[in-house]
Amino acid sequence: MSPLLEPPASDEVAPFWDATRRGKLVLPWCRSCERPFWYPRATCPRCLGDTVEWRQARGDGTVYAVSVQHQPGPGRDAADGPYAVALIDLDEGVRVMGNVLACAAADVHVGMSVRVTWQALSDGRQLLQFAPRE
Ligand SMILES: [Zn+2]
Repeated sequence: MSPLLEPPASDEVAPFWDATRRGKLVLPWCRSCERPFWYPRATCPRCLGDTVEWRQARGDGTVYAVSVQHQPGPGRDAADGPYAVALIDLDEGVRVMGNVLACAAADVHVGMSVRVTWQALSDGRQLLQFAPRE
């Protein structure tokens, strides 16, 4: 497997990446409207509240949409085969993107129950990914 193209880390997202080092998924929650949002940013996209707190998520979700990629993407090797890129609705109410691993890409489908899994990056952070939930 070729090396992953690794995402940059900004200060605004530091709490997210720090938690991934411990295998924990955290989401930014707005203290004004008491709901999580994604992607991480300094103000709530609904109410513009600027008091944001990071809270741990359960890590369970449902596939909202999936696309199976047959051409290798950046940092990927053709020998790795097709892979599934999915939008996942987490039970907390936010939609995130990730690959669904640990099953054939063609088996990933809308409505599938998935759970967070992690893929190691070179600096100790881990990439948010998903696997079928038993
Ligand atoms: Zn808000």
